[in-house]
Amino acid sequence: MNKLLIATNNQGKIAELKELLANSGIEFVTPVQINLQLEVEEDGSTYEENAGKKAAAFAQASGLISLADDSGLEVNALDGAPGLYSARYSPKPGANDADRRAFLLENLKDKPRPWKAHFHATIAIAKPSGEIEYAEGNCHGEIISEERGTGGFGYDPIFLIAEQGKTMAELGMEAKNELSHRARALTAAMPTLKKFFSV
Ligand code: IMP
Repeated sequence: MNKLLIATNNQGKIAELKELLANSGIEFVTPVQINLQLEVEEDGSTYEENAGKKAAAFAQASGLISLADDSGLEVNALDGAPGLYSARYSPKPGANDADRRAFLLENLKDKPRPWKAHFHATIAIAKPSGEIEYAEGNCHGEIISEERGTGGFGYDPIFLIAEQGKTMAELGMEAKNELSHRARALTAAMPTLKKFFSV
């Protein structure tokens, strides 16, 4: 019971969380490494509900303390959309990240600029016994209409961080991990991890 399961099948999140946890003193595994195939329906009405549901399901299935992230992009001019639905934000069947970015830009094109936005992440850490703790983080920026950069995933190529003059996709993982919503949520979750793992 001394390993943390990164409870997600999203490869972009896995890559970032692995890097963020690398120096934590906590050993971790991914679902693939333990041969666990689990899809959890994200039908909650808050980030917390979805993150908690994912973490609890993975913890129960694996017997390991499990960390899940539920995150999204909230755009002011769209009243907070796509928000909780960021991963499914496109009318196109089988849509990918590029389709979702295109749909977002289509919906924004007549809205006055700047298109202020923020990413939000809620992390849930669940024990197989059912105990769950939460932490959250945000990262503010704006949406731009030209894609820039090849790093990251999701909406990163159109999310500009003004102070850096770069999109999330131009930052590279190391720099993204210093300021992202996920990094901030994980920093806030460290006391829980230390408590659960006694490190
Ligand atoms: P979920 O947490 O599985 O519901 O998915 C969150 C969705 O929000 C992702 O599929 C992306 O579309 C978007 N998202 C969350 N975090 C990021 C990020 O760091 N960069 C870009 N897009 C993100």
